[in-house]
Amino acid sequence: MDKYNYFKQGGLRPSEEQSLHTKEFYHNAGSIYARFNEWKDKDEFYFIPLYMEMTYSMGWVAEIAPDPVWLGSFIRCNLEHPELFEIKCPGCKNAVYPFRYVGSPLSGRVDLEFECKCGKKGYEIVSGWRIRANVLRDQMASDNLRYRKFQLLHSKSECSIASLLDFLG
Ligand SMILES: [Zn+2]
Repeated sequence: MDKYNYFKQGGLRPSEEQSLHTKEFYHNAGSIYARFNEWKDKDEFYFIPLYMEMTYSMGWVAEIAPDPVWLGSFIRCNLEHPELFEIKCPGCKNAVYPFRYVGSPLSGRVDLEFECKCGKKGYEIVSGWRIRANVLRDQMASDNLRYRKFQLLHSKSECSIASLLDFLG
């Protein structure tokens, strides 16, 4: 039983490579967040596609935003809405940002998955699925014109988290 397929009715599933891509983001989310200002103006990094696997607890799956979610839009949205997306680490009490949201539009529950510099990782359960979905969708909509321009100029280029990490050194 493939929940993701069920959820992506009529849509394409992310390839193995695209999923790995997204996992690479999860593993490096700390430095990607911390150095947002250094790469946010570079379209080839801003528009790295993420496939968020937003699972839904009732046996089916809902998406908080249509795939792919652009890396830059995702990070910007989280940084600009700390009241929605910032979590206080249960270990060291520092602020951490999630690298993934999982939740339900019906119950409104959202699990924000995070990993802190102190090594603590886990989920923070909050409510307000719809407001978070709307904020992320609005961010993507406002980045859409920039994306179209980027596509016109670089339709063939596919950027990766690995190249972003190289850039950050
Ligand atoms: Zn911590």
